Amino acid sequence: MGGGNAQKSAIARLRNQKNAGQTDEERKASSDKAKKDACGFICTICRTTFMINVKPPTLYLHVTSKHPAGTDPASCFDALKDFDPEDPKGLKAAAAAKAAADKPKPKKKTKKGADDGLDLLSAGLTKGKGKKK
Ligand SMILES: [Zn+2]
Repeated sequence: MGGGNAQKSAIARLRNQKNAGQTDEERKASSDKAKKDACGFICTICRTTFMINVKPPTLYLHVTSKHPAGTDPASCFDALKDFDPEDPKGLKAAAAAKAAADKPKPKKKTKKGADDGLDLLSAGLTKGKGKKK
């Protein structure tokens, strides 16, 4: 009968966890997030860590000041893959994206009508000819 008690206490434990408001998964997710936040960016060359909330220009500055000129920023930080030093705030990119969105979409030409009829007709004719041997 001891097994029954063990099960009961297990259920009670589960209830307690629910009362705490966090499942194991949630706890794991939040601790993972905390870890990520603590070392948001790590320079792959010199292992310098930066908080998750630093801006790309800060990372870029690290690349240009700590590493020889010509170092690919993306080779230090993945986050700098799309970073444009000429456009640190992404304003140009945003403007370009807006311009692209504003551009009227080219109309698709629908090709239907007389041509299709002719194609079918000629296809039928060749088929008919082929059968006769
Ligand atoms: Zn570095």
